[in-house]
Amino acid sequence: MSIRFGLQGRFMLAILAGLLVVAGLAATLWQRQTRVFAEVAQVSSETVHELTFDALESRGRQLASDLASQLVNPLYFMDMEQIAERADAAGRQPGVSSVLVFDKDMRVVHDGTAQIVRYGERIRDNRDRPGSGVQVQWGDGVMEVRAAIVLADNAIGGLRLTFDLAGVQIQQRTAQQRLADRQSAATTTYRIWLAGLLGTLGLLGIVVSWLVSRGLVAPIRMLADAARDIEAGRYRQIQLASPRNDEMGELIRSFARMADGVEKHEREVRRIAYTDSLTGLPNRLALREILDVKLQGQGAGDFALVLMFIDLDDFKRVNDTMGHEAGDRVLIQLADRIRENAGRAAGIEVQVARFGGDEFVAVMVCEEPRLRAARVADAIIDALLAPVRLRGREQFLGASIGITVFPDDARSASQLIKNGDIAMYQAKLAGKNCYRFYSRALDDAMADRVQLEHDLRGALEREELKLYYQPVVSTNEQTLRGVEALLRWEHPARGLLMPAEFIDVAEQGGLIAMIGAYVLTRACCDIATLSDLHAAPGLFVSVNVSARQMRSGDLVEHVSSALAASGLASTRLRLELTETAVFSDEALAIAQFTRLRATGVRVWLDDFGTGFSGLSHLRRVPVDGVKIDRSFVADLLDDPDDVALTSAIIALAHSLGIGVVAEGVEDLEQLRVLSEHGCEMVQGFLIAKAMPLSMLRDWIVHRAAAGV
Ligand code: C2E
Ligand code: MG
Ligand code: MG
Repeated sequence: MSIRFGLQGRFMLAILAGLLVVAGLAATLWQRQTRVFAEVAQVSSETVHELTFDALESRGRQLASDLASQLVNPLYFMDMEQIAERADAAGRQPGVSSVLVFDKDMRVVHDGTAQIVRYGERIRDNRDRPGSGVQVQWGDGVMEVRAAIVLADNAIGGLRLTFDLAGVQIQQRTAQQRLADRQSAATTTYRIWLAGLLGTLGLLGIVVSWLVSRGLVAPIRMLADAARDIEAGRYRQIQLASPRNDEMGELIRSFARMADGVEKHEREVRRIAYTDSLTGLPNRLALREILDVKLQGQGAGDFALVLMFIDLDDFKRVNDTMGHEAGDRVLIQLADRIRENAGRAAGIEVQVARFGGDEFVAVMVCEEPRLRAARVADAIIDALLAPVRLRGREQFLGASIGITVFPDDARSASQLIKNGDIAMYQAKLAGKNCYRFYSRALDDAMADRVQLEHDLRGALEREELKLYYQPVVSTNEQTLRGVEALLRWEHPARGLLMPAEFIDVAEQGGLIAMIGAYVLTRACCDIATLSDLHAAPGLFVSVNVSARQMRSGDLVEHVSSALAASGLASTRLRLELTETAVFSDEALAIAQFTRLRATGVRVWLDDFGTGFSGLSHLRRVPVDGVKIDRSFVADLLDDPDDVALTSAIIALAHSLGIGVVAEGVEDLEQLRVLSEHGCEMVQGFLIAKAMPLSMLRDWIVHRAAAGV
C-alpha cells in the first residue's frame, strides 16, 4: 500500500506543485501585463488627446495669425469685399465654426455671414480686446483663437476664430478606439500564448507522470508484487519478463532469475526436509502436510480417507543381531515392497511415508474405504512376509497394520495418526502379521492399557510385584521336587492381577527386562531360604523367561548375578521358555541355551505342544525338559488325539533323555493317565495352587508332618 502512494503519489504531487507554481507565475504575469496595458491605454489616450488638441491649437494660431496679417490692408481701407473673401476662406477651413472680425473700437466688421448680420455691433466681451499676438481659449466644446490685426505696431482691429471641438473629439475617440482595438488584439494574443504555455506545461506534466508511471512505478509495483509472491511461496504466479533494454529491464530480468533461484533452492530444501533420506519416501513432516492437504479437500463429500499405520514386526532383532547397516538395507527393501504392493492392490494412488524407525504410514482417498483398506493391508502383509536375504541368510519379518478411516474415526490428522497407532498396537497384540481396524472400544482398551503400563512402571519400587510358588511333584509318590515361580501384581486399585493381565504390557512397554531380572533374583533368594527345611532338600525353582528377555542378550548375566546373590546352586535353577519364543528364532535360542546350560542351569520348554512347531525341533534345541501344556492335560480324558500327542511327547522326551512335566493337573484321573504314560512330574491345582513363600513353607512343613 505504501509504495502505491509513495512513489506515484509523491511524483504526482510534485508535478501538481510545479504546475501550481507555474500557474501562479502566469497569474502574476497576467496581472502585471493587464496593469501595464491599462497604463499604456491611459498614456496613449492622453497622448492622443494632447496631440489632437495641440495640433488644433497650433493650426488655430497659424490660421488666426495668417488671417490677421491678410486682413491688415483690407481692414485699413475697409475693403469689405476683401475682408469677406478672406474671412470666408478662413471660415471654410475644417473645424472652424465661426469667424468674427472687428475694428479697433470693437465693432463687428464681418461675422462670417453673407449679410453680415451683426455688422457694427459692439463686442462687449473683454477677452476679445486685441492684445499682443495670438491667444487661445478653450471653452465648452469650442476653442476660440483671438488675434490682433496690427499695422505699424498699432492694433487696427482683431479677429476671433471659433473652432468646434466635436470633430476633433470624434477624431480623438476614433484614434483611441483604434488603440484600444490594437491593445485588445495584443492582449488576446498574449492570453493565447499564456494559455498555450500553461497547457503545454500541463500536458508535459501528464506525459512525464505517465512515463514515470509506466517506466518506473509499474515495474516497481510488479517487482513488489513478485517479492510478495516469493515471500508467500506462490512461485507459479510470478511472471516477470521485460523487453526493455534499460536498467529497469535488466533489474526485472535479474529479479526473475533470482525468483527462479529462490524457488529451486526452496524446492531443494523442501525436498530434503520432506524426504526420508534412507528410503526416499516422504517423511513424518511431509505426511503431516499430505494429511492436512487431503483433509482440507475432504469437506462434506462422500469420499473417505484411509490411514494405515504399518509397523514392522521384530525389526529390532535385525538391528540387534546384524547391525544397523543391515537394518537400513532391510528397511529400504521393505519400504519399496510396501509402496509397490500398496499401490497395486489399491488400484488408486496410495501415498506411503516413513513415519520413523520401522514405522510407515500409507494414506489413500477412496470410496468403500474398509473394503479397499483390507485388501491393501493383506497385500502389504503378504509382501512383507517374503524373506529378506541378508549376508546369505534369509530373514523373516512381517508387519502389523492399524487402519483408521476419516471421517468415521477422527477428523484431525493427529487424531488419525494416533488411532492408526492404537489399531496397529492391537494388531501386534493379536499376534502380529495382521491388521486391525480402529474402534472406540479398542481405544478405551488402549487407554486402560496405557494406564496399566504407567502403573507397572512404579510397581517394582512400590513392591507390588510378588512371587507365588506352585509345587511340582513326582507323579507317582508325589514327593516335592521343585516349585515354579509365578508372578503376581498386588495392584492397589485392581486387586491381585495375574500374569496374563500384565506380562504383555511389561513386554510391550520394555519393562520385562527389569521385571525379569527381579523375578530371577527374588526366586533364587526365596528358594535358598528353604534350605533349612529337611522336607525339601535340593528343591529346584522354575522361573519363566519371556522371549524378549532371551533376545535382549544379557539373560546369562542376569542369571549368574541372581545365583551369586542368592548362593543357590546353578543346577537348582530352571528357566522356562515357551516353545513359540524359542522357535521364532531357533539359532539365537540354541546359542543362548548352550551358554546357559554350560553354567549348570537347566532350560525347559514351557507350554509344549501349543506352538505346532513339530516334535522334530526338539532334537535340535538343547533343553533339559518339556512342560506339556495344560490345554492337553485338560482334554486328556475326552480327546484321544490329546492322549496320543501327550504320549508321543513323553516318548520322544525319554528317547532324547530329557524330562517331562505335565501342568494343569486338576484331578486324579488325569494324574492316572499321565502316570500310565510315564510322565515323571506333575503340577496343578490337584496338588496345590501357587502361593506366597510363607504359605509354601507351611505347606511343605504340613505335608511332611502328614507324612506325604
Ligand atoms: P506357565 O508358565 O505355563 O504357568 C502355568 C500357569 O498355569 C500358571 O498361571 C498357573 O497358575 C496355572 N496352573 C497351574 N496349575 C493349574 C491347574 O491345575 N489348572 C489351571 N487352570 N491352571 C493351572 P499363571 O500364574 O496365571 O501364569 C500364566 C503364565 O504367565 C505362565 O504360564 C507364564 O508363562 C507367565 N508367567 C508367570 N510368571 C511369570 C514371570 O515371572 N515371568 C514371565 N516372563 N512370565 C511369567
Ligand atoms: Mg511356566
Ligand atoms: Mg505353561
